[in-house]
Amino acid sequence: MDERQKDSEFDREHLWHPYASASDPRPVYHVVRAKGCRIQLADGRELVEGMSSWWCAIHGYNHPVLNAALQEQSEKMAHVMFGGLTHSAAIDLGRLLLRITPPNMQKIFYADSGSVAVEVAMKMAVQYQHARGKGGKNNFITIRRGYHGDTWNAMSVCDPVTGMHKLFGAALPLRHFVPAPAVKPDEIWRKEEIEPLRCMIEHHAEDTAALILEPIVQGAGGMRFYHPQYLREAAELCRRHDILLIFDEIATGFGRTGKMFAWEYAGVEPDIMCIGKALTGGYMTLSAVLCTDDVAAEICSGEAGVFMHGPTFMANPLACAVARASVELLLQGDWQTAVRRIEEQLKRELAPAREMPHVADVRVLGAIGVLEMREPVDMEYTTRRLVEEGVWLRPFGRLVYTMPPYCITEDELSRITATMVKIAGETR
Ligand code: PLP
Repeated sequence: MDERQKDSEFDREHLWHPYASASDPRPVYHVVRAKGCRIQLADGRELVEGMSSWWCAIHGYNHPVLNAALQEQSEKMAHVMFGGLTHSAAIDLGRLLLRITPPNMQKIFYADSGSVAVEVAMKMAVQYQHARGKGGKNNFITIRRGYHGDTWNAMSVCDPVTGMHKLFGAALPLRHFVPAPAVKPDEIWRKEEIEPLRCMIEHHAEDTAALILEPIVQGAGGMRFYHPQYLREAAELCRRHDILLIFDEIATGFGRTGKMFAWEYAGVEPDIMCIGKALTGGYMTLSAVLCTDDVAAEICSGEAGVFMHGPTFMANPLACAVARASVELLLQGDWQTAVRRIEEQLKRELAPAREMPHVADVRVLGAIGVLEMREPVDMEYTTRRLVEEGVWLRPFGRLVYTMPPYCITEDELSRITATMVKIAGETR
């Protein structure tokens, strides 16, 4: 057995991969390095990266500017606790975040990952209501087909069918779900679209702390795009019924949808906002929860006087430094043009799939291109075929989709789209 086989054996025996069986693991592909939009496998094959590593690596891999930021920070300190101490990496990143997020977002709470950001946002909403003497307002309203992460409370607001509600059953807190918005961004708004949410809010205002949703794009719950008017109406209902509005922009942030953040499509500012994923350009895990001065002031006027959360690795300086470099890189470059170019190319090159019998829908928004099949895709088979064609994508459910790094070249993207269309034609 050579070294590579031994590694593969070890991986199969001992390493548990995401959403995977430990006793009968599916094949995984061993990566040795990655640069730009290319991933190199241990067997020498090179793949064009169409996933940005679950939507994070917006600048591609091994970026000299991000590498330098990490190195520079590591020579100062890799980490220092944030309780009682502060550092320039957190301060500088905070300044940048305030420049690009909604103007009413004034307080920043750094957290570890997207899921933890959602937990933090939900805790903020509950503490806010409690501080105002409204402790009964402690539940959440959300829309179906959402995805907010895999920790307990994040899981509780994921879609109850495609999420893990069935499996975790009564152990999960029961949330109030309304149907997912159906009007697409380019369709004419239908007034009745908001009725289920209106009814739910009117009915449950007394026990609801906040409405939480992913603005414009519902990501891992189905890669669905919906009309910005939904957000405007939702915001108005929340305001009228004294319910906080939480935008989970973990997937939609940092230019992915064609705007810096998706709230801009609707022009409505949330009370609390979660960001993560592409925050560090895909280098490491970091998220942030932002909120208004009002939310923060209420929380801190309450019984506890403080916000009750404080992770060990909060505001990790390495993560903050690379995040700052990543956001600066984005702002210095012409990301709007890059995303628009990707969007136009995706629209043009995925369009032929519309005619295919296995394909139910083709949709594109910003640097997101989706083929929705009529039947669930055989993930293992499809992934193997994609890899044979030199492309890295991670299909799920009925979806074969791409969210490439913004630096992808026209040829690289054509390779991805051509492979998606080809494989959609073959799907069993
Ligand atoms: N929220 C949204 C909208 C997401 O898409 C995800 C991850 O896909 C999360 C939260 C959870 O983020 P993480 O995987 O970093 O915990």
